[in-house]
Amino acid sequence: MRLTTRRFVHLKKVSEVKCSTDTSSEVEEEPPSRSVGVTISDLPALKALPPVKPLSSTSRTARKFKQTYFSGITDRQWNDWRWQIANRVRSKDVLEKFLVLTPAEKAALEDHQTKLPLAITPYFLSLLAGRDTEYALRRTVVPTVNEFIALPGEADDPLGEENQSPVPGLVHRYPDRVLFLTLDFCSTYCRYCTRSRIVGHGRLFFNRRRLEQALDYIRRTPSIRDVLLSGGDPLTLGDVRLEWLLKRLRQIEHVEIIRIGTKIPAVLPQRITPQLVKMLRRYHPLWMSLHFTHPDECTPEAYRACQRLADAGIPLGSQTVLLRGINDSVEVMRDLLHHLLKMRVRPYYLYQCDPITGSSHFRTSVEKGLEIIRGLRGFTSGYAIPTYVIDAPGGGGKIPLMPDYCQGRDGDSIVLRNYEEKLYRYPDAL
Ligand code: SF4
Repeated sequence: MRLTTRRFVHLKKVSEVKCSTDTSSEVEEEPPSRSVGVTISDLPALKALPPVKPLSSTSRTARKFKQTYFSGITDRQWNDWRWQIANRVRSKDVLEKFLVLTPAEKAALEDHQTKLPLAITPYFLSLLAGRDTEYALRRTVVPTVNEFIALPGEADDPLGEENQSPVPGLVHRYPDRVLFLTLDFCSTYCRYCTRSRIVGHGRLFFNRRRLEQALDYIRRTPSIRDVLLSGGDPLTLGDVRLEWLLKRLRQIEHVEIIRIGTKIPAVLPQRITPQLVKMLRRYHPLWMSLHFTHPDECTPEAYRACQRLADAGIPLGSQTVLLRGINDSVEVMRDLLHHLLKMRVRPYYLYQCDPITGSSHFRTSVEKGLEIIRGLRGFTSGYAIPTYVIDAPGGGGKIPLMPDYCQGRDGDSIVLRNYEEKLYRYPDAL
């Protein structure tokens, strides 16, 4: 509720009346609130709230999958993020034990060397098993031959990050913040990854010498107030290594905030342990940009992971890539955004898919993205609506895109179109 000055004055008068028995007309404008003159003992007894249902550690889908394919594995092992990483599916032969591959998927895994390796955690695989071959989540992680179709305008480094890298693994594009690539490892590889030229190649390690170089650059550059740790996925590091880095960053006085970009809550939620969040909360202000793509990623496990992070006081934002046939409809996107709000994650960016080499099967038109924003704005909470952006090819940074709500000027007024396509005038300040 917006508390205007007028209302504030009015409320003050109500409380004064209680003492003075004044019944001035100003007070009678509005009936006094129920709380005036009511004591606690007058209130009806409050019913005890039902206890908050604890989120189960393993969802029904994952349990069924585990029973079928990993019957000898204990719940403890399944919920151990290191076990999940050690048992990632990384080859066609193993993947075929779980999924019936299409000719296009087989060909991608047999005949070609995909730029980005295959890796899927057993947990994430449990979400794909038993679903059809066009299932959205399957398309995000299982390669197809479409990845080998390179179209004009596509590039391995479409954002020109290599040209903006003062030291290996650090991208300094904007004056006050840097992107710190901590390692090139992810638990699960997304087929549309912007950094597929780097991730999974086993060349960017959590190597102390390289990291010290990057830290030194940050130390020497006082304009840097915001450091975004990314990769690869920084949360695939163990607690000790991650803390080593966070501690050093926190020792740099001009670094105001640290952000971690991660897809872990969606693909390996078991990683968000109480020990991890206990460690992370020592390095506030710490923010997280989570990467969710589709509502089906919002499982009980993902809810629990976000709950732990949010309870540790970490502001959570989400970054979603707009992907053809995966989340490019108002209904799917709205469903995802509503889940995110319930998970206490603020939708932050909706990215137009970067033109990486072999991405044409994932890319939608820009008009499609605008149509989705148009279908959300006004129809759901403002908090649910991310900023739709194109990361400008060549290193121009993020450029926001909005449907045309401002229709132009008519004399001293601005003509505006609302979400119901109705026109309104706003008298502009001269
Ligand atoms: S988690 Fe992020 S860095 Fe890793 S493959 Fe997916 S998009 Fe790329």
